[in-house]
Amino acid sequence: MLIVMNRNATQEDLDRVIKTILVHGWEPKPIPGGERTAIGILRNQGAVDPAIFLGMSGVRDAIPVSKPYKLVSREMHPENTTVSVGDGSVVIGGEKLVIMAGPCAVESEARAMEIAHAVKEAGASIFRGGAFKPRTSPYSFQGLGIKGLEILARVREETGLLIVTEATDHEVLDLVEEYADIIQIGTRNMQNYRLLLRAGQAKKPVMLKRGMWATVDEFLMAAEYIMSEGNSQVILCERGIRTFTRHSRNTLDLNAVPYIRNESHLPIVVDPSHASGRRDQVIPLARASAAVGVDGLIVEVHTAPEQALSDGPQSLPPAEFEKLVNGLRAMNIMV
Ligand code: PEP
Ligand code: MN
Repeated sequence: MLIVMNRNATQEDLDRVIKTILVHGWEPKPIPGGERTAIGILRNQGAVDPAIFLGMSGVRDAIPVSKPYKLVSREMHPENTTVSVGDGSVVIGGEKLVIMAGPCAVESEARAMEIAHAVKEAGASIFRGGAFKPRTSPYSFQGLGIKGLEILARVREETGLLIVTEATDHEVLDLVEEYADIIQIGTRNMQNYRLLLRAGQAKKPVMLKRGMWATVDEFLMAAEYIMSEGNSQVILCERGIRTFTRHSRNTLDLNAVPYIRNESHLPIVVDPSHASGRRDQVIPLARASAAVGVDGLIVEVHTAPEQALSDGPQSLPPAEFEKLVNGLRAMNIMV
């Protein structure tokens, strides 16, 4: 249920509504808007009777929210959310399509710096790179750990690029929150509900990647977990889902983008690298994503993909990455 207040509702009117919600054992969630304030009702079991609120002073309307996700839903929050990153120099969900780029994993300081300078030059504003890698095989490169986070901090210092990196568990999330500008929750952890709750307590934006097996509604419910703990700075990332194809690692579900736009106010970005697993598909998928109006892209780039310790086959060399960005500019997309 969403209680919409009159434009001229007083603080006392608002307090009375909040108190009534609390009396019923529900949770009030005030949503200040440009024109008027609305108050969402959370944690109700079953339907809320609108009559409870409709006669109250200052109340304009009581609208049932039909979706199981509340805080992420556009019903509850009609305006788009913008996520301000780092010092506020990068905004996701604003006018520009934000480009995050970098290697799959941080491999060494020299390599990370080299890639960072290249992606910055081409137009990226956020550097990606895993320090703690969730690998399918325990024998594959697992990342440099805290040393990787220290390298990422130095990359930010030297290049001015902001940092996004993955938190694979609670312990790592504490560290990532300290070092990074955006906390990434990977596809494999999309339904790790305790980790989502911890991310909801973080003071940094969270980029939640869609589970490779998850429906969009499950994806939005996962984002709801984060928001339910008070973190409203959530970015959704479509990164491809498992299908029966052999011509790509995953299938980029672009249908999800307009669906999510209708359902949610949160910004949405696409990862064409993990969606395809193949370098030759990354640029076309990036262009298609831009065409459906995503708020950002996260792209794997490596200066020597054949030597990369993970995901070399899907990493673009800098010249290809530059082509990708220039292609977006040619589509009149602001990057
Ligand atoms: C990544 O972006 O580093 C990553 C591991 O992606 P995903 O969780 O989508 O597989
Ligand atoms: Mn990767």
